[in-house]
Amino acid sequence: MRMGTRTVIQVHSNVTSEWYKDGNCYNKPNLTDLFFSLDWRDEDEAKRICSDCPVRMECLNYALALNQSAAGVWGGTNERERKNLKQRRYREIVRQRNET
Ligand code: SF4
Repeated sequence: MRMGTRTVIQVHSNVTSEWYKDGNCYNKPNLTDLFFSLDWRDEDEAKRICSDCPVRMECLNYALALNQSAAGVWGGTNERERKNLKQRRYREIVRQRNET
């Protein structure tokens, strides 16, 4: 992503939302391998970086709202955890609808 004359390299290069500029991984290209690694130790380290990120909820909601599942760590979760979270949210919505 280009901003003025400076090139900003993002871990999550498809995010253009303003909130991302406050993210702990913003403009840190050296973290990209960590956030998309298949090694659980790297994933744990990425999650640790997310743990005190000021835009963690925005990031997680962004990833959950994507039509396709997003790879890598977003908002302190991996792809499998987001899939489970989506399924729980869906089941809760269905349960609430059935109660009314
Ligand atoms: S929550 Fe994690 S992945 Fe999302 S912006 Fe913050 S550090 Fe990056």
